[in-house]
Formats: sequence, structure tokens, C-alpha cells
Amino acid sequence: MIKGQCHCGKVKFSINCELKELRRCNCSHCRRKGYVMTTVNKDEFHLESGEDYLSIYQWNTKIAKHFFCKICGINTHNKRRTNPNAFGVNVGCLDGFDMSWIQNVSDFTNGQEFTLENQKQDEASLQKK
Ligand SMILES: [Zn+2]
Repeated sequence: MIKGQCHCGKVKFSINCELKELRRCNCSHCRRKGYVMTTVNKDEFHLESGEDYLSIYQWNTKIAKHFFCKICGINTHNKRRTNPNAFGVNVGCLDGFDMSWIQNVSDFTNGQEFTLENQKQDEASLQKK
């Protein structure tokens, strides 16, 4: 079991699995945050405390839920649009996680590809040419 928390410590959680599928995403939301996520099955993720401090950011199709702490603003985890039975968990929130472990992130989600907003922007920019 690995414990994790947001920066201010109001939101605490634990995950009951190996770290797997470390990935970054290049969608317009994730590239701004620049965090690396690990994939956790829904039943392997336990919110220990701080439910009242969690806020949800939704955009685009509003299917994915990006959870963040209202106090410190740290995104702790998200519920994926592509797989509702899995959470993406911000590895930087995990106790004892060494950021130097993530030099080689093999998995890369091309979130840009399925972002409706970006497609609209791309179409608009094409029309301008
Ligand atoms: Zn916090």
C-alpha cells in the first residue's frame, strides 16, 4: 500500500497496487500541469480523508473528472474518460516517490487527438490559411 496526499495534507489517499503505466498526456489541460500519472483500478484507490476539500474540474466532453484540493490546488487524481474503471493518480503526491524515477515515461497519452476543443481550433486555423 502506498499513501499519498495533496500539498497541504487535507486530502489523503492510498493506493493498493504496484506503480504501473506511468504516463504523461499532451491534452491542453495536462500539458499545462505537466504531471505524471500512474494507473490505478477504481477499487485499488481509497480516499482516506479530505473529501470536503476536493473540487472537480471538468472540461471538453465533461466525462473525465480532474480532482484537486481546494486549499492548495494540487491535482491528486482523475477519473478517466477513456476508462471509467481506472483512476490516474499524480505520482508526485505519493509518499516517498522520487521524481528522478520518471525520466523515462514510456506511455504517452495523445490526449490532443481526442480533444474536441483542439480540433475546433485546428479547423479554425486551417481555414485562416
Ligand atoms: Zn491540499
